[in-house]
Amino acid sequence: MKEVVLAPDLAERIRQVYEEMERGYAKVSGQLDFSCDGCLDNCCDSWFHHYTFVEWGYLWVGFCQLPKAKQAEILERSRLYVVVSEQTLAKKERPQVMCPLNENGRCVLYAHRLMVCRTHGVPATMQRPDGQRLDFPGCYRCQELVRKTYNDSDMSQVPRMERTLLLRELVKLENELMDGKRHLYPRLKLTIAQMLVAGPPKIATPHCER
Ligand code: SF4
Ligand code: SF4
Repeated sequence: MKEVVLAPDLAERIRQVYEEMERGYAKVSGQLDFSCDGCLDNCCDSWFHHYTFVEWGYLWVGFCQLPKAKQAEILERSRLYVVVSEQTLAKKERPQVMCPLNENGRCVLYAHRLMVCRTHGVPATMQRPDGQRLDFPGCYRCQELVRKTYNDSDMSQVPRMERTLLLRELVKLENELMDGKRHLYPRLKLTIAQMLVAGPPKIATPHCER
């Protein structure tokens, strides 16, 4: 197994999927007149996981472009994040630790951040492969805005970002990354800190380089 970051063609295609995600997000946030400006919260300290190797690899494409001293700083924060969150989980509490990539409220790897980071704020909808439709209400601040703007009877009119096709594209890239052998790899569920501490994903595939 090679320790890898993504080959340029795959990295470019995930960049395009992310660009499409940004357009979808911008459209809905524009319709709702919603933005993160002035938010006193910062959802980068929320406890959430990521599920695709291809996004993990793309995060590392960005990480490898940082100066070595910055990488070392971030890795130090990541190790601390993992220790603190494990201690919190051991107490059966939900961790709330600032993401190691957040510096002074801003994401150091903004262009390489993952899907969950990109889509969290606005309401969204998605159809699962089994046909079940999932609705996401958006962050608490966007939910407040929606409640102020729409009556209960108007809720079906609330603009929502459609994630289905974007997720399908990600799954397609994930399958390509693994040469159609995704089923041979373990299920992934990692925080960004864990993805950094662990190093780039280890995958035997021609779609990676190191
Ligand atoms: S997504 Fe919502 S909670 Fe997060 S920073 Fe933006 S407004 Fe604040
Ligand atoms: S990767 Fe960036 S956007 Fe995502 S939680 Fe970390 S700092 Fe925030």
